[in-house]
Amino acid sequence: MSEPKRLFFALELPSTVREEIIQWRAAHFLPEAGRPVAAENLHLTLAFLGDVSADKEKALATLAGRIRQPGFTLRLDDAGQWLRSRVVWLGSRQSPRGLLQLANMLRAQAARNGCYQSPQPFHPHITLLRDASHAVAIPPPGFCWSFPVTEFALYASTFARGRTRYTELQRWSLSE
Ligand code: ATP
Ligand code: MG
Repeated sequence: MSEPKRLFFALELPSTVREEIIQWRAAHFLPEAGRPVAAENLHLTLAFLGDVSADKEKALATLAGRIRQPGFTLRLDDAGQWLRSRVVWLGSRQSPRGLLQLANMLRAQAARNGCYQSPQPFHPHITLLRDASHAVAIPPPGFCWSFPVTEFALYASTFARGRTRYTELQRWSLSE
């Protein structure tokens, strides 16, 4: 029997967008504001599955592969801080319907397969800084990244030698 894996579905960001975001972050936040998420780890979580057995992973991947919906444009034009979870985040003033639909579907499939889903409303976001325990000044609106989302993926999260790593396990296209 293999060990359970810590899994989540997420959207990857285009590498050019990731690079621009980290430059913007470096220009607008002091080092003491929080612990910056590594460029390669910037992502938008759609559904968190927790520790999942190989059998359940297979079942959830099969269900994910049956999702039929078109892609959408993601516009990152909002930022904020959640003091409770101590993160500074990037997000959208208005989440695209396609994003909410995809996340709702994945979260419902996860719940039906026994993966606990938080009753909190889903707030799509990209974590920029962690351990941001003191209120920081959020840059004024004016920044914006916009890009098409044409696929989503399943990731495994591992923590070793003080670093969190995500490994892509499988990806699917969004199409009619
Ligand atoms: P760290 O090692 O510091 O916890 P991380 O939070 O990025 O790093 P994970 O905890 O494995 O790594 O989480 C993977 C993704 O799932 C992240 O986007 C995280 O915000 C999200 N996530 C983790 N736990 C939950 C949860 N209980 N509910 C919803 N999303 C979660
Ligand atoms: Mg975590």
